[in-house]
Amino acid sequence: MPVCKRPVSTMMLPERDARVVPDADVLVVGGGPAGIGAAMAAAEAGAHVVLAEHYGFLGGNATAGLVLTLASYYTSPAVSQESSRGSLLFPQASGGGKPVIAGVLAKLIKRLIENGGAWAPSVETGYIVPFDPEAFKLTALQMLDGTGVELLFHAFASGVINDNNGMSGVVFETKSGPVVAKAKIIVDCTGDGDVAAFAGAPFDIGREEDGLVQPMTLMFLMDDFSKPHFDSYVKGHPDEWNGVQGLRALMQEAIVKGELDVPREDILLFGTVRQDKVSINSTRITNVLGIDVWDLTRAEVEGRRQITQLTSFLRKYVPGFEKAYLLQSGTVASVRETRRINGEYTLTADDVLQARKFNDVIAHAVYPIDIHNPKGRGTLLKRIRAGAAYDIPLRCLLPLKVENLLVAGRCISGTHEALASYRVMPISMATGQAAGVCAAIASKTNQTPRNVVAEQVQSELIRQGAYLETQS
Ligand SMILES: Cc1cc2nc3c(=O)[nH]c(=O)nc-3n(C[C@H](O)[C@H](O)[C@H](O)COP(=O)(O)OP(=O)(O)OC[C@H]3O[C@@H](n4cnc5c(N)ncnc54)[C@H](O)[C@@H]3O)c2cc1C
Repeated sequence: MPVCKRPVSTMMLPERDARVVPDADVLVVGGGPAGIGAAMAAAEAGAHVVLAEHYGFLGGNATAGLVLTLASYYTSPAVSQESSRGSLLFPQASGGGKPVIAGVLAKLIKRLIENGGAWAPSVETGYIVPFDPEAFKLTALQMLDGTGVELLFHAFASGVINDNNGMSGVVFETKSGPVVAKAKIIVDCTGDGDVAAFAGAPFDIGREEDGLVQPMTLMFLMDDFSKPHFDSYVKGHPDEWNGVQGLRALMQEAIVKGELDVPREDILLFGTVRQDKVSINSTRITNVLGIDVWDLTRAEVEGRRQITQLTSFLRKYVPGFEKAYLLQSGTVASVRETRRINGEYTLTADDVLQARKFNDVIAHAVYPIDIHNPKGRGTLLKRIRAGAAYDIPLRCLLPLKVENLLVAGRCISGTHEALASYRVMPISMATGQAAGVCAAIASKTNQTPRNVVAEQVQSELIRQGAYLETQS
Protein backbone atom coordinates (compact mmCIF):
# COMPACT_ATOMS: atom_id res chain seq x y z
CA MET A 1 0.00 0.00 0.00
CA PRO A 2 1.77 3.22 -1.08
CA VAL A 3 2.30 5.96 1.48
CA CYS A 4 2.16 9.61 0.40
CA LYS A 5 5.61 10.74 -0.74
CA ARG A 6 7.77 12.85 1.53
CA PRO A 7 7.75 16.63 0.91
CA VAL A 8 10.13 18.12 -1.59
CA SER A 9 9.54 21.78 -0.74
CA THR A 10 8.04 24.12 1.87
CA MET A 11 5.72 27.13 1.54
CA MET A 12 4.69 30.06 3.74
CA LEU A 13 1.09 29.82 4.99
CA PRO A 14 -1.19 32.87 5.10
CA GLU A 15 -1.66 34.52 8.50
CA ARG A 16 -4.89 33.52 10.22
CA ASP A 17 -6.98 34.53 13.21
CA ALA A 18 -7.40 32.16 16.12
CA ARG A 19 -10.13 32.10 18.71
CA VAL A 20 -8.81 32.52 22.25
CA VAL A 21 -10.47 30.70 25.17
CA PRO A 22 -10.46 32.34 28.63
CA ASP A 23 -7.16 32.03 30.53
CA ALA A 24 -6.62 29.12 32.90
CA ASP A 25 -4.11 28.71 35.72
CA VAL A 26 -2.86 25.41 34.33
CA LEU A 27 -3.21 24.01 30.80
CA VAL A 28 -2.54 20.28 30.49
CA VAL A 29 -1.95 19.09 26.92
CA GLY A 30 -2.58 15.36 26.35
CA GLY A 31 -5.14 13.24 28.19
CA GLY A 32 -3.22 9.98 28.61
CA PRO A 33 -2.12 8.55 31.97
CA ALA A 34 0.21 11.51 32.59
CA GLY A 35 -2.37 14.10 31.55
CA ILE A 36 -5.10 12.57 33.71
CA GLY A 37 -2.69 12.58 36.67
CA ALA A 38 -1.64 16.18 36.01
CA ALA A 39 -5.17 17.56 35.55
CA MET A 40 -6.56 15.80 38.63
CA ALA A 41 -3.64 16.88 40.81
CA ALA A 42 -3.54 20.50 39.64
CA ALA A 43 -7.28 20.85 40.28
CA GLU A 44 -6.99 19.21 43.69
CA ALA A 45 -4.23 21.68 44.52
CA GLY A 46 -6.65 24.52 43.78
CA ALA A 47 -5.88 25.49 40.18
CA HIS A 48 -8.35 26.30 37.39
CA VAL A 49 -7.39 23.66 34.85
CA VAL A 50 -8.03 23.11 31.14
CA LEU A 51 -7.21 19.65 29.78
CA ALA A 52 -6.81 19.51 25.98
CA GLU A 53 -6.69 16.23 24.08
CA HIS A 54 -6.35 15.24 20.43
CA TYR A 55 -8.96 12.44 20.58
CA GLY A 56 -12.56 12.52 21.81
CA PHE A 57 -11.75 10.44 24.90
CA LEU A 58 -9.12 10.12 27.61
CA GLY A 59 -6.54 7.41 28.24
CA GLY A 60 -3.85 7.82 25.57
CA ASN A 61 -2.19 4.45 25.05
CA ALA A 62 -4.56 2.89 27.60
CA THR A 63 -7.49 3.44 25.25
CA ALA A 64 -6.39 4.71 21.82
CA GLY A 65 -3.41 2.33 21.90
CA LEU A 66 -5.35 -0.61 23.40
CA VAL A 67 -2.53 -1.19 25.91
CA LEU A 68 -4.70 -3.00 28.46
CA THR A 69 -2.52 -3.67 31.51
CA LEU A 70 -1.16 -1.22 34.04
CA ALA A 71 2.39 -2.46 34.65
CA SER A 72 3.29 -3.63 38.14
CA TYR A 73 4.12 -0.87 40.60
CA TYR A 74 4.99 -3.32 43.40
CA THR A 75 8.58 -3.99 44.40
CA SER A 76 9.72 -7.49 43.59
CA PRO A 77 9.85 -9.83 46.59
CA ALA A 78 13.08 -11.22 48.00
CA VAL A 79 11.93 -14.80 47.38
CA SER A 80 11.10 -16.16 43.93
CA GLN A 81 7.38 -16.34 43.18
CA GLU A 82 7.87 -18.99 40.52
CA SER A 83 5.78 -21.49 42.47
CA SER A 84 2.95 -19.08 43.11
CA ARG A 85 2.21 -18.32 39.47
CA GLY A 86 -1.56 -18.14 39.38
CA SER A 87 -2.40 -17.87 35.70
CA LEU A 88 -1.05 -18.78 32.30
CA LEU A 89 -2.15 -15.45 30.81
CA PHE A 90 -0.41 -13.10 33.21
CA PRO A 91 3.27 -12.63 34.06
CA GLN A 92 4.98 -14.74 36.68
CA ALA A 93 4.46 -12.49 39.66
CA SER A 94 6.35 -9.32 38.75
CA GLY A 95 5.74 -7.79 42.16
CA GLY A 96 4.41 -8.87 45.48
CA GLY A 97 6.52 -6.67 47.68
CA LYS A 98 5.22 -3.18 48.49
CA PRO A 99 3.28 -0.85 46.18
CA VAL A 100 5.40 2.25 45.50
CA ILE A 101 2.80 4.40 43.70
CA ALA A 102 -0.59 5.51 45.04
CA GLY A 103 -2.27 8.92 44.60
CA VAL A 104 -4.26 9.34 41.38
CA LEU A 105 -3.27 5.83 40.24
CA ALA A 106 -4.78 4.22 43.35
CA LYS A 107 -7.99 6.25 42.91
CA LEU A 108 -8.23 5.23 39.25
CA ILE A 109 -7.72 1.53 39.98
CA LYS A 110 -10.26 1.58 42.84
CA ARG A 111 -12.85 3.23 40.62
CA LEU A 112 -12.12 0.94 37.66
CA ILE A 113 -12.64 -2.09 39.91
CA GLU A 114 -15.88 -0.61 41.30
CA ASN A 115 -17.04 -0.15 37.69
CA GLY A 116 -16.28 -3.81 36.95
CA GLY A 117 -13.57 -2.72 34.51
CA ALA A 118 -10.36 -4.00 36.12
CA TRP A 119 -8.85 -6.64 38.37
CA ALA A 120 -6.93 -5.74 41.49
CA PRO A 121 -3.21 -6.50 41.37
CA SER A 122 -2.51 -9.90 42.95
CA VAL A 123 -0.38 -13.02 42.56
CA GLU A 124 -2.96 -14.22 39.98
CA THR A 125 -2.42 -11.16 37.76
CA GLY A 126 1.35 -11.10 38.40
CA TYR A 127 0.73 -7.73 40.14
CA ILE A 128 -0.28 -6.02 36.93
CA VAL A 129 -3.77 -4.51 36.54
CA PRO A 130 -5.73 -5.73 33.50
CA PHE A 131 -8.52 -3.33 32.55
CA ASP A 132 -11.21 -2.82 29.95
CA PRO A 133 -10.58 0.13 27.59
CA GLU A 134 -14.20 1.33 27.52
CA ALA A 135 -14.34 1.20 31.33
CA PHE A 136 -11.11 3.22 31.36
CA LYS A 137 -12.64 5.93 29.14
CA LEU A 138 -15.74 6.19 31.34
CA THR A 139 -13.87 6.01 34.63
CA ALA A 140 -11.38 8.71 33.63
CA LEU A 141 -14.28 11.06 32.83
CA GLN A 142 -16.07 10.19 36.08
CA MET A 143 -12.93 10.96 38.05
CA LEU A 144 -12.56 14.38 36.49
CA ASP A 145 -16.25 15.19 36.85
CA GLY A 146 -16.75 17.58 39.74
CA THR A 147 -13.07 18.56 39.96
CA GLY A 148 -13.61 21.73 37.93
CA VAL A 149 -11.27 20.56 35.14
CA GLU A 150 -12.54 21.87 31.77
CA LEU A 151 -12.08 19.59 28.77
CA LEU A 152 -11.17 20.54 25.21
CA PHE A 153 -11.35 17.39 23.05
CA HIS A 154 -10.56 17.11 19.34
CA ALA A 155 -7.82 19.67 19.82
CA PHE A 156 -4.37 18.96 18.41
CA ALA A 157 -1.54 21.17 19.69
CA SER A 158 0.38 22.58 16.73
CA GLY A 159 2.24 25.57 18.13
CA VAL A 160 2.88 27.71 21.17
CA ILE A 161 2.60 31.33 22.24
CA ASN A 162 5.67 32.69 23.98
CA ASP A 163 6.01 36.05 25.69
CA ASN A 164 8.97 37.64 27.45
CA ASN A 165 8.48 35.55 30.57
CA GLY A 166 8.26 32.20 28.78
CA MET A 167 5.34 30.20 27.46
CA SER A 168 1.87 31.64 27.81
CA GLY A 169 -0.34 29.51 25.58
CA VAL A 170 -0.77 26.72 23.08
CA VAL A 171 -2.29 26.78 19.57
CA PHE A 172 -4.66 23.93 18.74
CA GLU A 173 -6.00 22.80 15.37
CA THR A 174 -9.70 22.05 15.70
CA LYS A 175 -12.84 21.60 13.60
CA SER A 176 -13.65 25.18 14.67
CA GLY A 177 -10.39 26.43 13.23
CA PRO A 178 -7.35 27.43 15.27
CA VAL A 179 -7.97 27.87 18.99
CA VAL A 180 -5.50 29.38 21.47
CA ALA A 181 -5.64 28.31 25.12
CA LYS A 182 -3.63 30.53 27.46
CA ALA A 183 -2.48 29.64 30.96
CA LYS A 184 0.05 30.72 33.55
CA ILE A 185 1.64 27.26 33.49
CA ILE A 186 1.53 24.57 30.81
CA VAL A 187 2.09 20.85 31.36
CA ASP A 188 3.14 18.83 28.31
CA CYS A 189 1.66 15.32 28.61
CA THR A 190 1.65 14.53 24.89
CA GLY A 191 3.97 11.53 25.31
CA ASP A 192 6.06 12.96 22.46
CA GLY A 193 6.93 16.27 24.15
CA ASP A 194 5.26 18.11 21.23
CA VAL A 195 4.56 21.29 23.20
CA ALA A 196 8.02 21.46 24.76
CA ALA A 197 9.61 20.96 21.34
CA PHE A 198 7.44 23.67 19.75
CA ALA A 199 8.51 25.99 22.57
CA GLY A 200 12.18 25.40 21.81
CA ALA A 201 13.11 23.04 24.64
CA PRO A 202 16.14 20.91 23.74
CA PHE A 203 15.56 17.16 23.44
CA ASP A 204 17.17 13.85 22.46
CA ILE A 205 15.76 10.97 20.47
CA GLY A 206 16.87 7.34 20.44
CA ARG A 207 19.98 5.41 21.37
CA GLU A 208 23.20 7.29 21.85
CA GLU A 209 25.05 5.17 19.26
CA ASP A 210 22.60 5.36 16.31
CA GLY A 211 19.52 7.39 17.30
CA LEU A 212 17.22 4.39 16.81
CA VAL A 213 14.09 4.17 18.99
CA GLN A 214 12.11 1.20 20.28
CA PRO A 215 9.67 -0.23 17.73
CA MET A 216 5.99 0.69 17.53
CA THR A 217 3.22 -1.88 18.05
CA LEU A 218 -0.35 -2.04 16.81
CA MET A 219 -2.13 -3.79 19.69
CA PHE A 220 -5.15 -6.02 19.05
CA LEU A 221 -7.80 -8.01 20.90
CA MET A 222 -9.07 -11.45 19.93
CA ASP A 223 -12.45 -12.76 21.07
CA ASP A 224 -13.84 -16.33 21.32
CA PHE A 225 -10.54 -17.57 22.67
CA SER A 226 -10.70 -20.84 24.63
CA LYS A 227 -8.58 -20.43 27.73
CA PRO A 228 -9.00 -24.06 28.89
CA HIS A 229 -7.61 -25.38 25.58
CA PHE A 230 -4.75 -22.91 25.61
CA ASP A 231 -3.94 -23.69 29.25
CA SER A 232 -3.83 -27.42 28.64
CA TYR A 233 -1.51 -26.93 25.63
CA VAL A 234 0.98 -24.73 27.50
CA LYS A 235 0.85 -26.93 30.63
CA GLY A 236 1.95 -29.80 28.37
CA HIS A 237 4.68 -27.62 26.82
CA PRO A 238 6.08 -25.65 29.78
CA ASP A 239 9.23 -24.65 27.87
CA GLU A 240 7.01 -22.93 25.31
CA TRP A 241 5.30 -20.48 27.70
CA ASN A 242 6.37 -18.27 30.63
CA GLY A 243 2.98 -16.80 31.60
CA VAL A 244 2.73 -14.10 28.94
CA GLN A 245 5.14 -14.99 26.16
CA GLY A 246 6.51 -17.92 24.17
CA LEU A 247 5.18 -20.24 21.43
CA ARG A 248 8.56 -20.00 19.70
CA ALA A 249 8.46 -23.57 18.36
CA LEU A 250 5.04 -23.06 16.76
CA MET A 251 6.21 -19.73 15.33
CA GLN A 252 9.26 -21.44 13.86
CA GLU A 253 7.03 -23.93 12.04
CA ALA A 254 5.05 -21.08 10.50
CA ILE A 255 8.21 -19.10 9.65
CA VAL A 256 9.72 -22.11 7.85
CA LYS A 257 6.52 -22.48 5.82
CA GLY A 258 6.66 -18.79 4.88
CA GLU A 259 3.46 -17.99 6.77
CA LEU A 260 4.95 -15.61 9.34
CA ASP A 261 7.60 -12.91 9.06
CA VAL A 262 6.81 -10.66 12.05
CA PRO A 263 10.13 -9.36 13.44
CA ARG A 264 9.46 -10.57 17.02
CA GLU A 265 11.09 -13.48 18.71
CA ASP A 266 7.92 -14.79 20.37
CA ILE A 267 4.21 -14.19 20.91
CA LEU A 268 3.42 -11.79 23.76
CA LEU A 269 -0.16 -11.84 24.99
CA PHE A 270 -2.06 -10.91 28.14
CA GLY A 271 -5.30 -12.04 29.68
CA THR A 272 -8.01 -9.39 29.95
CA VAL A 273 -10.88 -8.88 32.38
CA ARG A 274 -12.87 -11.37 30.22
CA GLN A 275 -11.67 -14.95 29.98
CA ASP A 276 -12.59 -15.30 26.28
CA LYS A 277 -10.65 -12.21 25.16
CA VAL A 278 -6.87 -11.85 24.90
CA SER A 279 -4.80 -8.76 24.30
CA ILE A 280 -1.97 -9.35 21.84
CA ASN A 281 1.23 -7.33 21.85
CA SER A 282 3.08 -9.09 19.02
CA THR A 283 3.28 -6.78 16.05
CA ARG A 284 6.67 -5.09 15.86
CA ILE A 285 7.16 -2.14 13.56
CA THR A 286 10.79 -1.09 13.29
CA ASN A 287 12.51 1.90 11.69
CA VAL A 288 9.61 4.23 12.38
CA LEU A 289 9.62 7.42 14.43
CA GLY A 290 6.33 8.28 16.15
CA ILE A 291 6.67 12.01 15.44
CA ASP A 292 7.00 11.59 11.67
CA VAL A 293 3.64 11.50 9.87
CA TRP A 294 5.00 9.42 6.96
CA ASP A 295 6.44 6.85 9.38
CA LEU A 296 3.17 6.89 11.36
CA THR A 297 1.21 6.18 8.18
CA ARG A 298 3.56 3.34 7.25
CA ALA A 299 3.30 1.94 10.79
CA GLU A 300 -0.51 1.70 10.59
CA VAL A 301 -0.34 -0.14 7.24
CA GLU A 302 2.47 -2.46 8.38
CA GLY A 303 0.75 -3.08 11.74
CA ARG A 304 -2.40 -4.29 10.00
CA ARG A 305 -0.37 -6.47 7.63
CA GLN A 306 1.24 -8.12 10.67
CA ILE A 307 -2.13 -8.51 12.42
CA THR A 308 -3.46 -10.40 9.39
CA GLN A 309 -0.51 -12.83 9.60
CA LEU A 310 -0.65 -13.18 13.37
CA THR A 311 -4.38 -13.88 13.58
CA SER A 312 -4.04 -16.55 10.85
CA PHE A 313 -1.04 -18.05 12.64
CA LEU A 314 -2.79 -18.15 16.01
CA ARG A 315 -5.93 -19.75 14.56
CA LYS A 316 -4.01 -22.34 12.58
CA TYR A 317 -1.24 -23.30 14.99
CA VAL A 318 -2.17 -22.43 18.57
CA PRO A 319 -4.67 -24.54 20.55
CA GLY A 320 -7.38 -22.34 22.05
CA PHE A 321 -7.41 -19.92 19.09
CA GLU A 322 -9.22 -22.18 16.60
CA LYS A 323 -12.41 -20.09 16.69
CA ALA A 324 -10.91 -16.82 17.85
CA TYR A 325 -11.41 -13.73 15.70
CA LEU A 326 -10.03 -10.21 15.56
CA LEU A 327 -12.36 -8.13 17.74
CA GLN A 328 -10.55 -4.79 17.75
CA SER A 329 -7.21 -3.16 16.99
CA GLY A 330 -5.82 0.04 18.47
CA THR A 331 -7.30 3.30 17.21
CA VAL A 332 -3.66 3.96 16.40
CA ALA A 333 -0.41 2.00 16.47
CA SER A 334 1.17 2.84 19.81
CA VAL A 335 4.52 4.47 20.31
CA ARG A 336 7.15 3.38 22.84
CA GLU A 337 9.73 6.09 22.37
CA THR A 338 10.19 9.50 20.76
CA ARG A 339 11.48 12.78 22.27
CA ARG A 340 13.12 12.87 25.68
CA ILE A 341 12.98 16.52 26.70
CA ASN A 342 16.27 17.65 28.29
CA GLY A 343 15.55 18.70 31.85
CA GLU A 344 17.49 19.95 34.82
CA TYR A 345 18.42 16.34 35.56
CA THR A 346 18.71 13.40 33.14
CA LEU A 347 17.74 10.08 34.72
CA THR A 348 20.10 7.24 33.73
CA ALA A 349 20.08 3.43 33.63
CA ASP A 350 22.44 3.51 36.60
CA ASP A 351 19.95 5.59 38.61
CA VAL A 352 17.24 3.05 37.78
CA LEU A 353 19.25 -0.11 38.42
CA GLN A 354 20.97 1.21 41.56
CA ALA A 355 17.55 2.36 42.88
CA ARG A 356 19.05 5.83 43.40
CA LYS A 357 17.44 8.31 45.82
CA PHE A 358 17.08 12.07 45.26
CA ASN A 359 16.18 14.86 47.68
CA ASP A 360 13.68 16.28 45.18
CA VAL A 361 11.93 12.92 44.66
CA ILE A 362 8.39 13.23 43.29
CA ALA A 363 7.67 9.59 42.44
CA HIS A 364 9.02 6.10 43.10
CA ALA A 365 9.27 3.51 40.34
CA VAL A 366 10.09 -0.18 40.01
CA TYR A 367 9.43 -1.26 36.43
CA PRO A 368 12.49 -2.92 34.81
CA ILE A 369 14.44 -1.50 31.89
CA ASP A 370 12.52 -3.19 29.06
CA ILE A 371 13.96 -2.52 25.61
CA HIS A 372 12.28 -4.01 22.54
CA ASN A 373 15.05 -4.27 19.96
CA PRO A 374 14.83 -1.23 17.64
CA LYS A 375 16.19 -3.37 14.78
CA GLY A 376 14.02 -6.49 15.01
CA ARG A 377 13.94 -9.66 17.13
CA GLY A 378 15.01 -9.64 20.79
CA THR A 379 13.99 -7.89 24.01
CA LEU A 380 16.37 -6.77 26.77
CA LEU A 381 15.07 -6.84 30.37
CA LYS A 382 17.09 -5.53 33.33
CA ARG A 383 15.38 -5.76 36.69
CA ILE A 384 15.75 -3.63 39.79
CA ARG A 385 16.90 -5.58 42.85
CA ALA A 386 14.33 -7.19 45.14
CA GLY A 387 12.55 -4.78 47.47
CA ALA A 388 14.08 -1.69 45.88
CA ALA A 389 12.56 1.27 44.02
CA TYR A 390 14.23 4.23 42.32
CA ASP A 391 13.30 7.88 42.69
CA ILE A 392 12.29 10.27 39.93
CA PRO A 393 13.45 13.79 40.79
CA LEU A 394 11.33 16.89 40.14
CA ARG A 395 14.21 18.20 38.00
CA CYS A 396 13.38 15.57 35.30
CA LEU A 397 10.05 17.38 34.75
CA LEU A 398 11.63 20.83 34.29
CA PRO A 399 12.70 21.46 30.67
CA LEU A 400 15.83 23.49 30.04
CA LYS A 401 15.51 26.90 28.39
CA VAL A 402 11.70 27.27 28.56
CA GLU A 403 9.83 28.90 31.44
CA ASN A 404 6.25 28.23 32.63
CA LEU A 405 6.42 24.67 31.32
CA LEU A 406 6.60 21.18 32.86
CA VAL A 407 6.73 17.81 31.12
CA ALA A 408 5.32 14.52 32.45
CA GLY A 409 4.91 10.92 31.34
CA ARG A 410 6.98 9.28 28.63
CA CYS A 411 8.73 12.49 27.49
CA ILE A 412 10.48 13.47 30.77
CA SER A 413 14.24 13.91 30.94
CA GLY A 414 16.15 10.63 30.89
CA THR A 415 18.34 8.43 28.74
CA HIS A 416 17.07 5.89 26.18
CA GLU A 417 17.61 3.12 28.78
CA ALA A 418 15.94 4.95 31.68
CA LEU A 419 12.92 5.78 29.48
CA ALA A 420 12.57 2.04 28.87
CA SER A 421 11.57 1.81 32.55
CA TYR A 422 9.72 5.02 33.43
CA ARG A 423 7.59 5.03 30.23
CA VAL A 424 4.93 2.68 31.69
CA MET A 425 1.49 3.96 32.64
CA PRO A 426 1.58 3.88 36.47
CA ILE A 427 4.86 5.83 36.50
CA SER A 428 3.59 8.22 33.82
CA MET A 429 0.52 8.89 35.95
CA ALA A 430 2.72 9.54 39.00
CA THR A 431 4.97 12.01 37.17
CA GLY A 432 1.79 13.60 35.79
CA GLN A 433 0.43 14.04 39.29
CA ALA A 434 3.69 15.66 40.41
CA ALA A 435 3.77 18.00 37.41
CA GLY A 436 0.16 19.01 38.09
CA VAL A 437 0.96 19.82 41.72
CA CYS A 438 4.09 21.80 40.78
CA ALA A 439 2.13 23.68 38.09
CA ALA A 440 -0.65 24.59 40.54
CA ILE A 441 1.84 25.87 43.11
CA ALA A 442 3.74 27.86 40.47
CA SER A 443 0.55 29.46 39.20
CA LYS A 444 -0.70 30.29 42.70
CA THR A 445 2.64 31.85 43.69
CA ASN A 446 3.27 33.55 40.34
CA GLN A 447 6.61 31.90 39.71
CA THR A 448 8.06 29.65 37.07
CA PRO A 449 8.01 25.92 38.04
CA ARG A 450 11.82 25.93 38.12
CA ASN A 451 11.69 28.16 41.21
CA VAL A 452 9.13 26.09 43.12
CA VAL A 453 10.70 24.50 46.20
CA ALA A 454 10.62 20.69 45.91
CA GLU A 455 9.51 20.25 49.55
CA GLN A 456 6.30 22.16 48.75
CA VAL A 457 5.54 19.81 45.87
CA GLN A 458 6.33 16.80 48.05
CA SER A 459 4.06 17.88 50.90
CA GLU A 460 1.12 18.53 48.55
CA LEU A 461 1.73 15.16 46.86
CA ILE A 462 1.69 13.44 50.25
CA ARG A 463 -1.50 15.34 51.14
CA GLN A 464 -2.99 13.99 47.89
CA GLY A 465 -2.13 10.42 48.87
CA ALA A 466 1.04 9.89 46.82
CA TYR A 467 3.69 7.54 48.26
CA LEU A 468 6.92 9.38 48.91
CA GLU A 469 8.23 7.53 51.95
CA THR A 470 11.85 6.39 51.89
CA GLN A 471 12.33 3.00 50.25
CA SER A 472 15.19 0.59 50.90
C1 LIG B 1 2.89 -1.57 22.58
C2 LIG B 1 3.04 -0.96 23.93
C3 LIG B 1 2.79 -1.75 25.04
C4 LIG B 1 2.88 -1.20 26.32
N1 LIG B 1 2.60 -1.98 27.39
C5 LIG B 1 2.46 -1.40 28.59
C6 LIG B 1 1.94 -2.15 29.68
O1 LIG B 1 1.65 -3.34 29.55
N2 LIG B 1 1.76 -1.51 30.86
C7 LIG B 1 2.07 -0.19 31.03
O2 LIG B 1 1.84 0.34 32.11
N3 LIG B 1 2.60 0.54 30.01
C8 LIG B 1 2.79 -0.03 28.80
N4 LIG B 1 3.28 0.70 27.75
C9 LIG B 1 3.77 2.08 27.95
C10 LIG B 1 2.67 3.10 28.07
O3 LIG B 1 1.50 2.74 27.38
C11 LIG B 1 3.06 4.53 27.65
O4 LIG B 1 4.41 4.78 27.72
C12 LIG B 1 2.25 5.51 28.49
O5 LIG B 1 0.90 5.42 28.07
C13 LIG B 1 2.76 6.92 28.42
O6 LIG B 1 1.80 7.78 29.00
P1 LIG B 1 1.70 9.30 28.55
O7 LIG B 1 0.52 9.87 29.24
O8 LIG B 1 3.03 9.95 28.69
O9 LIG B 1 1.45 9.22 26.97
P2 LIG B 1 0.24 8.62 26.12
O10 LIG B 1 -0.39 7.46 26.77
O11 LIG B 1 0.80 8.43 24.75
O12 LIG B 1 -0.82 9.81 26.09
C14 LIG B 1 -0.55 10.99 25.37
C15 LIG B 1 -1.87 11.69 25.06
O13 LIG B 1 -1.59 12.94 24.46
C16 LIG B 1 -2.38 13.10 23.28
N5 LIG B 1 -1.58 13.91 22.35
C17 LIG B 1 -0.42 13.59 21.77
N6 LIG B 1 0.03 14.61 21.02
C18 LIG B 1 -0.89 15.60 21.13
C19 LIG B 1 -0.98 16.91 20.60
N7 LIG B 1 -0.01 17.43 19.81
N8 LIG B 1 -2.06 17.65 20.92
C20 LIG B 1 -3.04 17.17 21.74
N9 LIG B 1 -2.99 15.93 22.28
C21 LIG B 1 -1.92 15.16 21.99
C22 LIG B 1 -2.60 11.69 22.78
O14 LIG B 1 -3.77 11.63 21.98
C23 LIG B 1 -2.73 10.92 24.08
O15 LIG B 1 -4.05 10.87 24.55
C24 LIG B 1 3.25 0.17 26.47
C25 LIG B 1 3.52 0.95 25.34
C26 LIG B 1 3.42 0.40 24.09
C27 LIG B 1 3.68 1.25 22.89
